[in-house]
Amino acid sequence: MMRKPSSILVIYTGGTIGMVKDVESGSLVPVNVERLLANIPEINRLDIEIHIHTFTHTIDSSNIHPAHWVQLVEVIEENYPQYDGFVVLHGSDTMAYSASALSFMLENLSKPVIFTGSQLPIGVLRTDARENFITALEIAAMKENGAPKLNEVCIYFEYHLLKGNRTTKFSSSHFNAFTSANYPPLAEAGVQINLNENVLHRQSGKETIFHKKLNQDIAILKIFPGMTPGYVNGILQVEGLKAVVMETFGSGNAPTETWFIEALHSAIQKGLIIANVTQCTSGTVYQGKYKTSNQLEKIGVISGQDVTTEAAITKLMFLLGNYSDTAEIKRLFSFSLRGEMTIAALENK
Ligand code: ASP
Repeated sequence: MMRKPSSILVIYTGGTIGMVKDVESGSLVPVNVERLLANIPEINRLDIEIHIHTFTHTIDSSNIHPAHWVQLVEVIEENYPQYDGFVVLHGSDTMAYSASALSFMLENLSKPVIFTGSQLPIGVLRTDARENFITALEIAAMKENGAPKLNEVCIYFEYHLLKGNRTTKFSSSHFNAFTSANYPPLAEAGVQINLNENVLHRQSGKETIFHKKLNQDIAILKIFPGMTPGYVNGILQVEGLKAVVMETFGSGNAPTETWFIEALHSAIQKGLIIANVTQCTSGTVYQGKYKTSNQLEKIGVISGQDVTTEAAITKLMFLLGNYSDTAEIKRLFSFSLRGEMTIAALENK
């Protein structure tokens, strides 16, 4: 019997991968999918059935919005039965946010959703787009016993497949633009593509759920030496605000000044959720390790453990969009829902 090739839906949202120089402004602007594909005829030689869905308005990913994440989920839901996997072409600037958001919105995935893009446009001679796109397609098409080999949201960039909700963009100039400092790569592409089997998500076997509700009443409070009460209160008192991701020093430490702790405490008592994540690229928040984080623990700041800011923001958007009880949101935030934290997964508790 002839082996059936994998079928992959490519969803083109925009990004540098499909940009050209605008003659008037000299800036990079997105082009249509036909022009993008014309620059990469090699994909026709892959033993993969490829179909393309293109956003009506392709965008620079700096313009990405939660509405686009809902749109992505809708396209994946509509096409889920027909395809073995999905490759999302997306700008690198906010790719870590989008991949994190989709990891929460797609529950019990049984197929891969791989984000990729490039640092140089596909038409440029030294582009990284060709390798990124082709390898992302090959990984998305991998099967074992007739079923997709991967079943999670990932980012493929510069020879590494990373877990989407563990990823951060750390370079605007290197081809190797992403890091996943608290979780090993899922695969490395060299002469062969080597999957790191031990760290791949194991399929739950449960029905896939496509979540579409997000709530954006969120802020980031980045602390710094010398911040003023005006700055902190300006954020904590934003009208309608429901949750704050507070980026702290080191293992979750913050100033112990009374005005600061009191401002946080009073906001928490009024129902605001404050999650503590570290400004460090790697490592974890450990509230209570130092005296400078003891108070935070006592007043009810929740620890984000080793979650990235991107995953913390999108996880809170997802939880606030789907649950109304603050205590329940805080409880769920403290568990790993999709492998975004190293701590115990919810189903093991
Ligand atoms: N500004 C671009 C974007 O995020 C950068 C890129 O694609 O790498 O859409």
